[in-house]
Amino acid sequence: MQNKTSHLSITNDIRSINIKRIFYLTLISIPYNLIHIIIFYTNLSKDNPTEMKWRLGIIFCHASLAVLMSIFGVCAYIISKKALVATPMHLMIYAALITVFVFGVLITAIDQLVTASITPFLVACTIVSVVFLIRPLNAFLFFLFSYAGFFFALSTYQKNPSILLSNRVNGMTTVGIGLFVSIMMWKMTTSNLIQKQLIAEQQEELMKKNGELERLAFFDQLTGVYNRRKFEELLKNEISRISRYHQPASIVLIDIDNFKRINDHYGHPVGDRVLQEFAGLLKNNIRDTDSISRWGGEEFLILLPNTALEEAKKTAEKLRQIVENYEQLNQDSEIHLTASFGVASLPADRQNALEIAYKNADDAMYLAKENGRNRVEAK
Ligand code: GH3
Ligand code: MG
Ligand code: MG
Repeated sequence: MQNKTSHLSITNDIRSINIKRIFYLTLISIPYNLIHIIIFYTNLSKDNPTEMKWRLGIIFCHASLAVLMSIFGVCAYIISKKALVATPMHLMIYAALITVFVFGVLITAIDQLVTASITPFLVACTIVSVVFLIRPLNAFLFFLFSYAGFFFALSTYQKNPSILLSNRVNGMTTVGIGLFVSIMMWKMTTSNLIQKQLIAEQQEELMKKNGELERLAFFDQLTGVYNRRKFEELLKNEISRISRYHQPASIVLIDIDNFKRINDHYGHPVGDRVLQEFAGLLKNNIRDTDSISRWGGEEFLILLPNTALEEAKKTAEKLRQIVENYEQLNQDSEIHLTASFGVASLPADRQNALEIAYKNADDAMYLAKENGRNRVEAK
């Protein structure tokens, strides 16, 4: 699955590289075509019919090429801007490639009226191998067909058998070099892209693992609320904050009543599920600005920023009632839970503020247990 996705995105990368290159190719090609037309037109001599035929042929080829290149340029621009790379629009890549070959062959064939050179075909092969990224098998077929076209088209105007033979052999060398360069370019680019893809995948994996590590380091595995270590850090930050801004803050220590009995009666796995549900219940009933941690076994600690002791007691009482009225479902039976709450304010500007606050909350919680459980006490 992963390989398939990588392959797919590489294919898309290659298509967009081709589209971009075609766009730049058209920007270079069109002025060149126009220059050719101007040069060949201005020196048009009507005295020599062969030369006239040659010049008109070249003008016609460059004019047609300029028109086609303009169309390709506009298409490439639209495709790249609208990110249409994955659509059949990318078939334009092949149309542009075939155009380059066809005009390379045509111009070379027309040139044979006056010269033995095959430079235009060499240029076409170079453009195809350097500009277009194509799979080696496709490249082989395109170069083969272009050579076939070149082979036959050449004889149209080249009537000298020795030059024809020499040009056909030279054309074969040209095609061979073009194909070799094309395959090299393909190999280099694809291996670069695969490398990049691998690095991106590894980075994503690493980020996932970091997220997982963070989750393990900061959150309790069973209930998903903060663990004790992370919560101590949050409490220390809160103490620094209230010392600076002189605002109140409170903590609430919550211990499930007679939890051992639930374990004994329903078994440990059910006990675990009850703890998860209990944590979720508390979390859903505190403010977004409050935070909750699993402090140990069946004890939870809540931090209420900007909350003085009296208000914190009200919050604890609200939570106590929610717990008391909540029906935990365990298959067919219902588990009724209660909890004891110890509330304390977080002292600012004091050494050991956290220890003092925790001891007060713990004392208050034990007082609640002593006074019959399912109660809120404060200290
Ligand atoms: P009290 O009302 O005095 O708090 O009674 P209690 O039974 O809740 O208190 P005690 O401290 O005697 O027992 C706490 C129980 O919580 C015992 C322990 O097995 C259970 N416990 C602690 N951690 C876990 C846990 O992760 N999963 C489960 N299922 N039980 C746990
Ligand atoms: Mg306990
Ligand atoms: Mg308990």
